[in-house]
Amino acid sequence: MRRPMVAGNWKMHGTRTSVAELIDGLRRLDLPSDVDVAVFPPCLHINQVIDGLKGQPISIGAQNSAVESMQGALTGEVAPSQLVDAGCSLVLVGHSERRQIMGEQDGMLIRKFAAAQACGLIPVLCIGETLEQREAGKTLEVVGRQLDSVIEELGVGVFAKAVIAYEPVWAIGTGLTASPQQAQDVHAAIRAQLAEKNSEVAQGVRLLYGGSVKAANAVELFGMPDIDGGLIGGASLNADEFGAICRAAGN
Ligand code: PEP
Repeated sequence: MRRPMVAGNWKMHGTRTSVAELIDGLRRLDLPSDVDVAVFPPCLHINQVIDGLKGQPISIGAQNSAVESMQGALTGEVAPSQLVDAGCSLVLVGHSERRQIMGEQDGMLIRKFAAAQACGLIPVLCIGETLEQREAGKTLEVVGRQLDSVIEELGVGVFAKAVIAYEPVWAIGTGLTASPQQAQDVHAAIRAQLAEKNSEVAQGVRLLYGGSVKAANAVELFGMPDIDGGLIGGASLNADEFGAICRAAGN
């Protein structure tokens, strides 16, 4: 039985004041005990969030980390070892905004994934197709290739200690959501792809759906057999909405 997970990606949002308010709201939530809850603040606010959420059942992750695990001469980057030192346990790898806007490609993402795991961080690998690719009928090919690039280089076993988020690019921040069946079809294909190499890893890995998830659509999405929770962007900036999404992932 996979334990559901709901993770909030705060993206490049927040000031010290608004983050303090969000922490306050999160502390007041009645979170389900059968769901793993995590938030990914901007790097600048990670320490504030870790201090503010001390004692709460919420893990903290970073939105990005360096290709090298240990600190060193890499201006502007943050090493996975530094994130662990700060108290993070997770890191996003390959969010579509980084793939598309920052030009991060599979080769770099594989290095980031491996560097994070080498320090004990759980990478959350984000994969997903653009609208153009979906309309061309290439969704499974694109997602399969993104996943395969990691499997080929690092082996399927790395997914015993990782999470995968399927995030159709056309659904991120647009208000458009994949239907539960569209999302389930891709999740099932991802699990089947992993199962071809290792069925135990495939059955154990958590597959999150991301793309305009809200409290109003979460129950239906999370009710699908291969959807183990969600990666939530915009809606995670509202503590009450985020709490309701977390409860939707519980039993
Ligand atoms: C995301 O940024 O990972 C995301 C899913 O965003 P949103 O929920 O706002 O679509």
